Amino acid sequence: MAKFVYRFSEGNKDLKDLLGGKGANLAEMNKIGLPVPPGFTITTEACRAYMRRGLVPPELRVEVTTAMRRMEDEMGRQLGNFHDPLLLSVRSGAKFSMPGMMDTVLNVGLNDASVQGLAEFSGDLRFAWDSYRRLIQMFGKTVLGIDGGLFAGALEEKKKEVRAESDVDLSADDLKDLVAEFKRIVRDQTGEDFPQHPRQQLDMAIEAVFDSWNTERARLYRRRERIPNDLGTAVNVQAMVFGNLGETSGTGVAFTRDPSTGHSGVYGDYLPNAQGEDVVAGIRNTLTLAELETLDAKSYDELMQAMRRLETHYRDLCDIEFTIERGKLWLLQTRVGKRTAGAAFRVATQLVDENLITMDEAISRVTGAQLSQLLFPQFDGQADRKLLTKAMGASPGAAVGEIVLDNAQALERSNAGANVILVRRETNPDDLQGMMVAAGVLTSRGGKTSHAAVVARGMGTTAVVGAEELDVEVAAQEVRVDGQVLRPGDVIALDGSTGEVFLGDVPVVDSPVMRYISAGLDAGLDGCETEAMRELVLAVDRILTHADRVRRMQVRANADTAEDGRRARERGAQGVGLCRTEHQFLGDRREYIEHLVLAEGEQAREAALAELLPLQRQDFVDLLEAMDGLPTTIRLIDPPLHEFLPDLTDLAVKVALARDKGEPAEREEKLLAAVHRMHEQNPMLGLRGVRLGLKVPGLFALQIRAIAEATVQLRQAGKDPRPEIMVPLVGSVRELQIVREEAEDILAEVGRAAGTVLDLPIGCMIELPRAALTAHRIAEEADFFSFGTNDLTQTTWGFSRDDVEGAFFADYLENGVLTISPFETLDADGVGALVVAGATGGRSTEPQLHLGVCGEHGGDPESIHFFHNAGLDYVSCSPFRVPIARLEAGRAAV
Ligand code: PEP
Ligand code: MG
Repeated sequence: MAKFVYRFSEGNKDLKDLLGGKGANLAEMNKIGLPVPPGFTITTEACRAYMRRGLVPPELRVEVTTAMRRMEDEMGRQLGNFHDPLLLSVRSGAKFSMPGMMDTVLNVGLNDASVQGLAEFSGDLRFAWDSYRRLIQMFGKTVLGIDGGLFAGALEEKKKEVRAESDVDLSADDLKDLVAEFKRIVRDQTGEDFPQHPRQQLDMAIEAVFDSWNTERARLYRRRERIPNDLGTAVNVQAMVFGNLGETSGTGVAFTRDPSTGHSGVYGDYLPNAQGEDVVAGIRNTLTLAELETLDAKSYDELMQAMRRLETHYRDLCDIEFTIERGKLWLLQTRVGKRTAGAAFRVATQLVDENLITMDEAISRVTGAQLSQLLFPQFDGQADRKLLTKAMGASPGAAVGEIVLDNAQALERSNAGANVILVRRETNPDDLQGMMVAAGVLTSRGGKTSHAAVVARGMGTTAVVGAEELDVEVAAQEVRVDGQVLRPGDVIALDGSTGEVFLGDVPVVDSPVMRYISAGLDAGLDGCETEAMRELVLAVDRILTHADRVRRMQVRANADTAEDGRRARERGAQGVGLCRTEHQFLGDRREYIEHLVLAEGEQAREAALAELLPLQRQDFVDLLEAMDGLPTTIRLIDPPLHEFLPDLTDLAVKVALARDKGEPAEREEKLLAAVHRMHEQNPMLGLRGVRLGLKVPGLFALQIRAIAEATVQLRQAGKDPRPEIMVPLVGSVRELQIVREEAEDILAEVGRAAGTVLDLPIGCMIELPRAALTAHRIAEEADFFSFGTNDLTQTTWGFSRDDVEGAFFADYLENGVLTISPFETLDADGVGALVVAGATGGRSTEPQLHLGVCGEHGGDPESIHFFHNAGLDYVSCSPFRVPIARLEAGRAAV
């Protein structure tokens, strides 16, 4: 029988699947002797069982009883006790952090009797009643589903009535009144009294936390963060410690290093006389840890020691939540901290310099997604800018957009195609929808660890927080700052690194990391305005250099033109993995295809092809020259020819109009007939790729001749062109064999005429399931394979790659058939199995067979790891993604 409850002493940090991140790390902290309030974790397995059965498994209740009794014994206190009650916090904690998305209930165990006990134990009547009213408020909202506004409204009423400025001005009697009022709200809204029995409160709270896994906002967050829907959350039940027991108490969050710059040295926020969520919610402005040191040096020292200990133990930047209860420090949570992309690189290299990790580990601490964030443009410091205010840069980036003040506005304007900046006093989890569509988030309150900051960082969305000069008046639909009034629709610009907020649009320039990637280290360092920037460029250089050193797979680029090729080369591409030659038939070259299609008889067709030859040859000369010395895979034409012809409807209208007017339209009519003739119901499954090459005599031959002649021309100019000829959409070895024979004849002929040997590799794409399954045969005729995972995904799933996104992907993501588009990240189980079959089959015939991938997946981090494990020799991706692929290929190898 599954074990549903783990005491902290039974777990460890590696049990995240079962105990969630929070539970696993609480157990780990307990293990290394840090002060953690006693408690236990209910497993994600229990949550899954609950979701399956629709009710709490009875075994769970029994295990909770046992764990509770042990905890009571350990603490020498009892739940609901009249004199010295044990109170509990009940908190969610999934495998992957979902900040603020799920529920938490604090002060569980308080009732009309134990509130007296709490007053007695604390010697503070006000505190006891405040805790009780917090319980009813939180329990009412999250467990009983009562509109939180009712409680907040009653609280405001009370404050007005007694002329209290803030919550802390309410007296014990005021709070006692509020408790009565809150209980009345509960009774009115649910028809039942607020549950007095502590165990009933606990059971209901546990169930509510389970349920909060499936709230809309949690599902939304998971979809965005690609967290599977079926994991479930763990529940942590822990003895309460109080940060709101007067001025010697407080609560805070801290990082072992600055999470936004990566500088070593602790960083955090502290709020005296406050409980749990007050800091994260950004409700009051916080103190720094340095200020804590002057308030309570002993607790501060203990905190420093604990943080050093954690960083040494985890060998990484950690963040923690802590509470000081009357001078005693407690750690409530730790995890390897979220950080900005820039901080990730700097922290990784700093840890290497401190001999805490190796370079191999350092490259595994950063991701391709983080690197791509650093490549985004930045605001131009030289441009004319009007500064509105400067606050805390909480999540870097340069965001420009229209002001929106709530979710509805954010969705409406972004659906209309506008870039939006969500401006709020503070954000809470209900603002998630707006944050997800916003280019940037700006708040007037809260620190670097506020909800807005944490969530924006996690999503890679630009954020500036704590802009105190900003007055956000949602009711009046106004944002006032520095004597100006801004309204929804006004454009502002946020710099998430410097915390600056500008009025109007601000132009952007390449980031220093981008300059480094495309023009080298000196160029990258040259453009750095700050020391921090220089450090970042140096860190990226060290990490990428190491990734290049350790990776097994090469990185090539998909480049159709010399210009693309050069750009890819600058970014470290080691060749071209796919030149789509059809792009050379677009624009004003379309007319040559029309000549070909309309050609009647062999002579006319040959003439049409002859027109194309010099153009194609020049294309290849340019590309091969740009890629001199590097392998350059040129794919023969792939799409159906009618893609190059005018649109059927346009043409039909033209012909009809001409007929009406009695004008001659012979050419259009012929073209229309051809388009009709070539029309296919399923062109993606039709006359394309090698099929087209076999059907239209001379078409492939023309391209092969152009490649051969370009090679000769460049060799004669003393260059080192290295073309590889690739045949698309092969399904049978015979198809490749026919093309190969023709190609070898042409290469021999052109070579002979030029007095050279053209021994160019000839290979094919593997982009049909049949090709993957018969790869052992196809390898008899191929010098290399390149997996075309776009078509392979399309044909394996039977999804049309052009239509599927709009058609039903949203439903499939919602109901969990897919967690991400298989066109973005390789479907490892299905399409991946075919890649493995193709690789294995091919190499069983030809052990040295060169293998690559040129579908979009070649630039996707997760897929790159798959290709590494499948034994491919290279990935090929868009020039922009080349550095990302270099890094990920390195990460895959360590
Ligand atoms: C593929 O199918 O993966 C591929 C690279 O070819 P294309 O996208 O041009 O069809
Ligand atoms: Mg394809």
